[in-house]
Amino acid sequence: MSRNQSACSRLQHPAHGILARRLAQSAFMLAAIWLVGCEREAPLIEVEGPTMGTYYSVKVVNAPAGLTAQTLQHEVESTLNQVISEISTYDPNSELSRLNRNPSTDWIPVSSNLFEVIAEGQRIAALTDGAFDVTVGPLVNLWGFGPEAKTGEPPTPEAIQAALARVGWKNLELRTEPPAIRKTRGDLYIDLSALGEGVGADRVSAMLDAQGIRHDMVAVAGTIRAKGYNAKGQPWSIAIEEPLPDQRIVHRIVPVSDRAISTSGDYRNFFEKDGKRYSHEIDPKTGSPIESHLGSATVMGDRAMVVDGLATALMVLGDKRGPALAADQGLAAYFIVRDGTTLRGFGSPNFGNDTVSAIRQNGNP
Ligand code: FAD
Repeated sequence: MSRNQSACSRLQHPAHGILARRLAQSAFMLAAIWLVGCEREAPLIEVEGPTMGTYYSVKVVNAPAGLTAQTLQHEVESTLNQVISEISTYDPNSELSRLNRNPSTDWIPVSSNLFEVIAEGQRIAALTDGAFDVTVGPLVNLWGFGPEAKTGEPPTPEAIQAALARVGWKNLELRTEPPAIRKTRGDLYIDLSALGEGVGADRVSAMLDAQGIRHDMVAVAGTIRAKGYNAKGQPWSIAIEEPLPDQRIVHRIVPVSDRAISTSGDYRNFFEKDGKRYSHEIDPKTGSPIESHLGSATVMGDRAMVVDGLATALMVLGDKRGPALAADQGLAAYFIVRDGTTLRGFGSPNFGNDTVSAIRQNGNP
């Protein structure tokens, strides 16, 4: 869907229309909500659509002459499809799927794009002592959160142990020149879904940058890269929602400009069995979905891929180790914890003074 907007608009949420229902089921935890009054607004082009099993939304303020919504949509989707062809585990022909099927334990050459994402995953794994682990794929798939159909049933302890034996980020070695990876066991299976939305947002943002576009907001599910200002010449207002499975309630609005922001949570992609919730965030140490009071973790930073991965990592670390790591590493993170029936939100020390950076003084897009 694509729209040229220049009329005044009230509280705008990309989930209006058909997207609303679909977004409610997707991992769209951040919403680019912008409070636009009826003062002077710059012209806006917005496009949205399906990608990576979820949704994207792109807004461009003051688009260059000649850029139509149709052209923008085509360029956005070509960029996202290129990412999918490199790092999807849902596309059997993607470079990652072919790598996962390769049983070799020798060096396997990979594209620099795929290498960059795997390397970021390994960096976050080292930072989090393996709480984040891109080799967690066999467990993700066993619990029904991968390309295969969901079972809605917890696997047997024996199946968990068998999958757990194939997991371990230290079984994956990197060589930078020429870019290659080596699996110390041939059945290693890499899952980059915790980074993929961010990769998509970064690539689309860079594609717009290359056309001289300096004011845009790119959202791929729960990961957003916002450049410059919205149509009112102000930072983009990004909503962090309450971690509630069946409601969309804004918990906090964060002004974002020239930053990326990503939220991971346990309340969108899960199944329940006998009153217990099993979410798609897997603890590589136990082989099972995380059990913590942390409903969602949001991270702000320069690159969408990085904050996407870190948000997942903080979720897996949970409501004690997550905030501790964020403070220790100076991350700009925000946590929403379930305290009995109430939700308690709090930011890391760096979250407060990091929500808006490099705001140009004149405020004109
Ligand atoms: P995040 O917290 O960002 O990521 C959670 C995901 O990370 C889990 O689903 C799991 O895959 C992985 N993970 C879980 N635990 C860990 C851990 N400890 N360390 C590292 N990673 C972990 N889904 C579809 O249904 N259909 C599709 O066609 C499809 N295509 C995709 C194509 C691409 C290129 C990518 C990257 C993903 C695709 N997905 C698809 C998956 C879907 O987009 C993901 O479920 C979603 O991106 C996860 O993002 P999130 O914000 O919901 O959760």
